[in-house]
Amino acid sequence: MAKTFDWQLPTEIKFGSGKIEEAGAVCRRYGTKCLIVTTASEPWLEILVVRVKAILAASGVESKWYSGIGVNPTTDQITGGAEAARSFGAQVVLGLGGGSSMDGAKAIAVEATHTDTCWDYLWFRETQPTSATLPVVAVTTTSGTGSQLTQVAVVTKTDERCKSAIYNDMVLPRVAIVDPDLMTSIPPRMTAFTGFDAFTHAFETFIHPGCNPYIEMMAREAISLVLKWLPKAVANGNDTEARYYMALADSLAGLCIRSAGVTLPHGMGMAIGGMYPHVAHGQSLAIVYPAFMEYTQAAAPYQFAWLARQLDPTAASLDDAKAAALAPALLSGFIKAIGISQKLRDVAVPETELDALTVACMVLPDYKNNPRVATPEDMSALVYASW
Ligand code: NAD
Repeated sequence: MAKTFDWQLPTEIKFGSGKIEEAGAVCRRYGTKCLIVTTASEPWLEILVVRVKAILAASGVESKWYSGIGVNPTTDQITGGAEAARSFGAQVVLGLGGGSSMDGAKAIAVEATHTDTCWDYLWFRETQPTSATLPVVAVTTTSGTGSQLTQVAVVTKTDERCKSAIYNDMVLPRVAIVDPDLMTSIPPRMTAFTGFDAFTHAFETFIHPGCNPYIEMMAREAISLVLKWLPKAVANGNDTEARYYMALADSLAGLCIRSAGVTLPHGMGMAIGGMYPHVAHGQSLAIVYPAFMEYTQAAAPYQFAWLARQLDPTAASLDDAKAAALAPALLSGFIKAIGISQKLRDVAVPETELDALTVACMVLPDYKNNPRVATPEDMSALVYASW
């Protein structure tokens, strides 16, 4: 049945080598005071922040650097950033880094301008962020979360061991700057984790009930790009062609999740990240994907067969059901090839907590958008199979 759909892209994308140089002119549109939000200082980041501050200053924008965001940002870290934004009088917030920094910037933009903490504006709350939210400019340094193009800000509340999200167009970046030159410093393992995350956004959109022909084109292109270029980017971080195409895949995949959404693996990944914040987001997805693929493939033969044929062209001779059945093993081979094949036990998740983790995996509604909707028993089996 031909689907009807709407398509809207309010975020301006500045894509390509050297685009970071436009950050000053972009931020100047929103004022003269900019809070730069990043994770803790590291050599690659320090150099980049000095450069960005100079770019902003050249356009008449004064900046303050808040480096208090952690990997998987917490509500306390957002509160620290909101205080910094208020005391500085920030008129624009620039997220500079991976998903953690960009999401941190979005959540700070809300908390700095509202009475409650960012946790009070999560996707399911009655009270939502208003137009008082500070404008966000997102500069991504990973490929990636696609956060530079999404209305999502993922945050963790440590005492609740819960990772959830603001989901509102008010946090959608006004401008996304995607400069692949900023990504050559990502270490191989992080390149693999983040690149696999981009794959999952595209694939989960492809199987999502909200997928439409427009998004499907982008999802398929993003998947093909990741399968071709991620191994090259992992093998040689200075391969600028690989970094370019991974940045493109990430942005296409970000547009996919902005328009449709994610499914079962992301609900599981968020639960893992909430309970075990030392596990990187893409790492959690690589852990649950083999079990998810096995569980889901027969319910979406068209998409799984397409993926199988991308991974192994000889699957072209098989019908969809037979090709789809090959997809889990083929994707597991890809995960191994990029060096991130792990189980929950490898990342210090105790067996005694698997039942609690199962419950947490069903908190976000993502699993309801999977082509096969998991019962609590199914979810338990998926969690145990991933351990
Ligand atoms: P990250 O931002 O957590 O960064 C991971 C590590 O990589 C950090 O130590 C960082 O310093 C380092 N790093 C980043 N860029 C680098 C570079 N160019 N060179 C060297 N090191 C670099 O990683 P991420 O995977 O991009 O983001 C993960 C976060 O994003 C999670 O909290 C996840 O839940 C969230 N997320 C958000 C969305 C969204 O739509 N908002 C989507 C997916 C994931």
